[in-house]
Amino acid sequence: MQWDVVVVGASFAGVACAMATRHAGLRVCVLERKRDPGIKLHTTGILVREATETGLLATIPDHLIHRIGNVRLYAPNLRSTRLSSPGYHFLTTDTPNLMRWLADELVACGVELRLMQSFTDARRVDGGWHVEGLGSTRWLVGADGAKSRVALRAGLPHVRDFLYGIEYEFHDATLREPDALHCFISKRFAPGYIGWAAQNPAGVQFGLAFRHRDDRRGVPDIDGLRLHAQGTLGIDPERPPDAIRAGLIPCGGPVLPLSIPGLILTGDAAGIVSPLTAGGIHSAWKHGDAVGHAIADHLLRSGSSPDMLAERIAPRYRFKRLLRNAFDRWQMDWPFDLLIGTPPLRWLAEEIYFHRSARGPAS
Ligand SMILES: Cc1cc2nc3c(=O)[nH]c(=O)nc-3n(C[C@H](O)[C@H](O)[C@H](O)COP(=O)(O)OP(=O)(O)OC[C@H]3O[C@@H](n4cnc5c(N)ncnc54)[C@H](O)[C@@H]3O)c2cc1C
Repeated sequence: MQWDVVVVGASFAGVACAMATRHAGLRVCVLERKRDPGIKLHTTGILVREATETGLLATIPDHLIHRIGNVRLYAPNLRSTRLSSPGYHFLTTDTPNLMRWLADELVACGVELRLMQSFTDARRVDGGWHVEGLGSTRWLVGADGAKSRVALRAGLPHVRDFLYGIEYEFHDATLREPDALHCFISKRFAPGYIGWAAQNPAGVQFGLAFRHRDDRRGVPDIDGLRLHAQGTLGIDPERPPDAIRAGLIPCGGPVLPLSIPGLILTGDAAGIVSPLTAGGIHSAWKHGDAVGHAIADHLLRSGSSPDMLAERIAPRYRFKRLLRNAFDRWQMDWPFDLLIGTPPLRWLAEEIYFHRSARGPAS
C-alpha cells in the first residue's frame, strides 16, 4: 500500500485526523480541492474556549486570534442584555490565515498535502482502497464537509438537515462593543437560528443563518438585518462588504452509520455539529483527532476497530436536537422581546453560550 491513511479535506476535522495519524508515524496524505486552504471559507471561525485548551489549537499564534469574553444578546426589538461567565471566552480568528497556518503545520509534521486535488472516487482493493488519481491506502477518511463526496461514494447516509449561513466581512473595521459577540434573535431575518456580529483580528464579521430545507429554500436578507441592527454595529451602513462567506451547516445530529470497513466519516461529513449552537469546529477537531488515534492504534498495535469507536464517540446531541425541533416549530419573537434581560432567559442563554452544565461550576 502506498499510504496508510488518506484524508479528504484539509479543514478542522481533516487536519486533526491527519496530525494524529502522522504523529504516530503513519504515511498520511491529505487531499484538498482548493488551491489555497484560506480561500472560499464557509465558517465564521469562532473557537470555543474548550477547543483551544490542548493540542495544536492551543498554540495558534496570537496575531490570528481575538479574545471575546461576553455575549450581547438582542431581542427582535433590539433590547439587549450582556452575558458573561467567569473564566470563559471565545476566540474569533483571522480564519483565512488560521487555515493556512494549520496547513503549514500539517506539512511541517510530514503529511503529504495535495492541494487542488479533489477526491472523485475510490474502489475497494485487497486490504484497503484505491483512490482515483492517487493510489492505494489502508484507510480512507472523509473529512470533506457537509456535502461529502466520500459518503456518497461509500454509500453511507449523508447529512440532510441544514442551516444556511451567510456572512459579510469588513476588513479593518471596529465594532462599537468589540469585546462582545453580538447575537440577534429574529424570526424575520434568521428563522431557526440567529444573526451575529463579531470583532476579529482583521476586522468585523456580520452574518446570519436560518433553517434550510430542500423544499423551501429561503433567500437570506442579510442587508435587511444589517439595516435593522446598524445602530448597534458602528459600521458605515453604506459600506459594501470586502468579502462574503456562506455555506450549509448540518443541524440534525450525526449520520449513522458513519463508517464501513476501512472508511470513516468525520466532522461535518458525519453531521457532527451542535444542532443548537451550530458550532462544529471543536466537535470536528475532537472527533477527527479521536478517529486518527484509533486508526493509528489499530494499524500499529492491532487495537480495536476504529470504525466502531468513531461511531461510539460521535456526540448524539439528543437534548439539543429536541431544542432544535422545538425552535423550528414554535419560534416566536414576542417571548424574547418580553423576557430579554430577565433571570430565566439570562440563565438559559448563559447555559447555552458558555456550556456551563458541560463544564461544571465555574472555578
Ligand atoms: C457560515 C458558517 C459559519 C460557521 N461558524 C462557525 C463558528 O463560528 N464556530 C464553529 O464552531 N462552527 C462554525 N460553523 C460550522 C463549522 O465551520 C464546521 O462545522 C466546521 O468547519 C467543520 O469542519 P470540517 O473539517 O468537518 O469540514 P469543512 O470545514 O467543511 O471542510 C471540508 C474540507 O473538505 C474540502 N473538500 C470538500 N470536498 C472535497 C473533495 N471532493 N476533495 C477534496 N477536498 C474536498 C473542502 O474544500 C474543505 O476544505 C459555521 C458554518 C458556516 C457555514
